Amino acid sequence: MSKTLKIEDLHVSVEGKPILKGVNLTIRQGEGHALMGPNGSGKSTLAYALMGHPNYTIDRGAVTIDGLNVLELEPDQRAKAGLFLAFQYPTAIPGVTLANFLRHAVTNVRNPTRKEGEELIPMRQFRKELNEHMESLGFDTALARRYLNEGFSGGEKKRAEILQLSMLRPSFAILDETDSGLDSDAVRVVSEGIARLVGPDMGVLVITHHERLLEYNKPHFVHVLLGGRVVETGGGELAHDVHAHGYAKIREKYPEAAAEEEEMDPKRRELEPAAR
Ligand code: ADP
Ligand code: MG
Repeated sequence: MSKTLKIEDLHVSVEGKPILKGVNLTIRQGEGHALMGPNGSGKSTLAYALMGHPNYTIDRGAVTIDGLNVLELEPDQRAKAGLFLAFQYPTAIPGVTLANFLRHAVTNVRNPTRKEGEELIPMRQFRKELNEHMESLGFDTALARRYLNEGFSGGEKKRAEILQLSMLRPSFAILDETDSGLDSDAVRVVSEGIARLVGPDMGVLVITHHERLLEYNKPHFVHVLLGGRVVETGGGELAHDVHAHGYAKIREKYPEAAAEEEEMDPKRRELEPAAR
């Protein structure tokens, strides 16, 4: 039976300021979704809230996986419940290799009742699996011996992320692709990686305004966030439309959401790059 991640009427504030104002989103295992939206619309806020970041206060609404209340779970329990967030471990961890890190993560996800200090999956078995995954993704195995994220290029960070996804096989992956700094190599790694991994047992939400990210892995659904709400949902053509025309058309169509946006951050529009 395929699982369903449901976000219902989600309201989230940051430092007392309401950012998300009733987000509804349903993702089934096997579905590819993309979330787009202008700068400051709350895309990352949604990702942080799903991860359980302490600075993001849930004011109202529900997030469930097959009825299980995700919002009550600690971040590590969320991972065990099948939720994966790409930026869970964004910082460099000197002294911990990517392989070492993955061995812990894989052990914990496969054995949800494991206590800290209990045995990890056997080294030999893990190495074999790790090499198989790296090989099938076409990654250089040297990457696994590097310290996690230390001096990783954009492309290497993305490879590490895709490798995690490939080995952890979460039911739902939320990938917040802050587009700045993603070189074309990284964009290709992510898009091809996701295209390979999305399957009947994985639902993916890619947060982006990079249309190219969606090139290799055509999402089944594209959502646009504006003024703290998902105002429009469509297919791949919606991503093309936004890419071609910017958000002007969407704002015209949803004046109330546009007004909310203006209220949230009056200076934002000056900073936004013009539509390409
Ligand atoms: P997006 O990812 O869509 O660009 P964000 O979720 O990062 O948008 O930000 C949405 C709004 O929340 C912005 O107005 C931003 O300034 C505000 N915000 C996000 N995180 C914080 C924070 N830690 N402290 C204060 N304001 C924040
Ligand atoms: Mg963001």
